[in-house]
Amino acid sequence: MNLPMEYLKRAREDPLETPTVSADVRETVEDIIEAVRSDGDNAVLDYTRRFDDISRDQNQLTKEERSDAIGRVSEEEKRIIDHSLDRIQTFAEAQLESINEFEMSLGDGVVLGQKLVPIERVGSYVPGGEYPLLSSALMTVVPPAVAGVERIVVSTPPQEDGLPHPAVVYGAMEAGADEIFVMGGAQAVAAMAHGTDEVTAVDKLLGPGNAFVTEAKRQLFGTVGIDLLAGPSEILVLADDTADAELIAADLLAQAEHDTSARPLLVTTSTAIGEAVIGEVEDQLGNLETAEIARDAWEQMGIVALAENMDEAVTIANELAVEHVEVHTEAPRELLDDLRNFGTLFLGENTANVFSDKLIGTNHTLPTQRSARHTNGLSVHAVVKKQTYQEVSDEGVSDLEPWATRQSTIERLDGHAKSSFVRSQSNTLPSYEA
Ligand code: NAD
Repeated sequence: MNLPMEYLKRAREDPLETPTVSADVRETVEDIIEAVRSDGDNAVLDYTRRFDDISRDQNQLTKEERSDAIGRVSEEEKRIIDHSLDRIQTFAEAQLESINEFEMSLGDGVVLGQKLVPIERVGSYVPGGEYPLLSSALMTVVPPAVAGVERIVVSTPPQEDGLPHPAVVYGAMEAGADEIFVMGGAQAVAAMAHGTDEVTAVDKLLGPGNAFVTEAKRQLFGTVGIDLLAGPSEILVLADDTADAELIAADLLAQAEHDTSARPLLVTTSTAIGEAVIGEVEDQLGNLETAEIARDAWEQMGIVALAENMDEAVTIANELAVEHVEVHTEAPRELLDDLRNFGTLFLGENTANVFSDKLIGTNHTLPTQRSARHTNGLSVHAVVKKQTYQEVSDEGVSDLEPWATRQSTIERLDGHAKSSFVRSQSNTLPSYEA
């Protein structure tokens, strides 16, 4: 689809092109997965040396390292982390309550049911290459913990001192992690998926990460379940002429600072706002400690586009299906019904993306690369299987069997027809009238 976009600022790539994984990343990840599959822990340790410049002799964080890390978290930091944890848990618990077990009768003697079963082993990836994403430790451990997952394994890369950031360790443990591994990138994902001597293979992988992590999850889907492809951050701001350029620029840069491949996008009905935001971004970059990454993301990936009116802006937003969508308009709630494709939605200029990144309560692990067209963000639903079951009495057999037999015959599946007919109580096939 060609969108009627007029640009004040273009990006290196057309935002409607679903980003393809570069051949380099794809091949690197293939090699890493194969090495970890065949050489297990040693391969992971080698990659930790190569990519993270850290030499360890085991991947798991030892008990001493764990308690030492927790000892280095100040009381003030603990209070901040606990506060966020509490809010994220409360929202996850409410989400869990929104799924029910139930039984129903569909005709006499036929009972159908749904039961909820948490996945047994989950691996949560907590990014840590560029920044120690303590928030991701909470976001990826809370859902399985609240859902009642038996074993939660966390992988996160080392920092320069060779260990994960203490706040990440504290957050993960408080949220309910059972084990922590000092592994990053595709090798961590491969180790959790295939299992090694140290790591028992998990059933499902959760969590965000850079292009290597995301590509590894994509390649390993099938060997394990995955939550979603939560790659480099994206934000789309929809703005009319009542918007505040300073707030918009700050929110665009807050996502741009994540990664040089982050996508900061603005679609506005106002040329004046578009131009003001471009100026504001330049000004704010001058005073941002993370300007090197943010500038790169803004220059390469940033877009400022004009829409004729809000209807057109909404159409564009739905086509782009961006991870975070902020609405800076006079009446933001009016767009709630029409916006369909987004990872999570922020209504009104007070509702900053950063609040949900850290602590508002909704999960910040969200679909990127236009996958919000078909996928929602991480939640307890991703780790609870909604399993169905059924039970049929004699009475139910006489109701179901004739239909199942005939339907199987239409499909020319003789074995199915016989498996049904062998239960027949009448020995005569019914007419098609109910
Ligand atoms: P990361 O932990 O995802 O990746 C770091 C690891 O990448 C390193 O440990 C290393 O093993 C591997 N790596 C680095 N360079 C490599 C190379 N050349 N070849 C092979 N492997 C290599 O941390 P990060 O890099 O800081 O990225 C975090 C990402 O997570 C960012 O892109 C951020 O936008 C994204 N994120 C997304 C969401 C979401 O919900 N979509 C949420 C939070 C963060």
